[in-house]
Amino acid sequence: MTASARDYAAVYSGFQAPISKIYNCGAKCAPLNGGVPVCCDTGHAIPIVEKSEYALLKTRTQMWKPFVARTPDQKSEIADLKGSESCAVECRGAEFCERDNRSLACRSFPFFPYFDAEKNLVGLAHYWSFEGLCWVIHNLTIVEKPFVDQFMAMHEFMFKKDEDWRTTYVAHSAAMRRVYSRRGDKFPVIMRDSTYRWVLPQLGGKMVPATKKELQSLRAGFTLGQD
Ligand code: SF4
Ligand code: SF4
Repeated sequence: MTASARDYAAVYSGFQAPISKIYNCGAKCAPLNGGVPVCCDTGHAIPIVEKSEYALLKTRTQMWKPFVARTPDQKSEIADLKGSESCAVECRGAEFCERDNRSLACRSFPFFPYFDAEKNLVGLAHYWSFEGLCWVIHNLTIVEKPFVDQFMAMHEFMFKKDEDWRTTYVAHSAAMRRVYSRRGDKFPVIMRDSTYRWVLPQLGGKMVPATKKELQSLRAGFTLGQD
């Protein structure tokens, strides 16, 4: 069973907190990306929504329209959606963003719900393909508790509505462990109580405490705009 438009309306209402009330992260990455926040640039990320979510958005705003692929890579990405419950969309751009009408993906970015090796939902991990591009990924300590609380609550709500959602993120979490295992590195997770852990993929995904000071070492990885 997929989530209905009404379910998405409940998610939108329960997930409004910004990542940070202090930092405008778009002002950190946009100047290095031609003035456009990286996650609002279809050159970096094509918004994908469930058809039921798009149906809701169309009742609320004129901000979204179907995405038209412009490059071979984009065409291939869109072709992969054929026959699925999802579709690719495009908004009018960051300068016309209507905060209340952002998609769930917009609200969640750059995070996905992280499941540990025992398939327990424990917290938030980042989309690793945006490392070096997204300032937040390199500044995890700025993520505020209301965002974490709402992110977790709304994803748990979605997992009750659609078992496929859980399956997708269990698999995505395992994929992240494989990627980092190959790198021979650890990765951070923001736990549901807003503490931090390192995941050690080479030790079966074991999690150990991470300090703010250790996480600050991630700042050096924000390379957007550098040679
Ligand atoms: S979430 Fe990341 S990519 Fe999006 S605006 Fe903030 S820093 Fe930029
Ligand atoms: S709706 Fe807003 S946050 Fe989402 S991609 Fe468009 S400009 Fe960015």
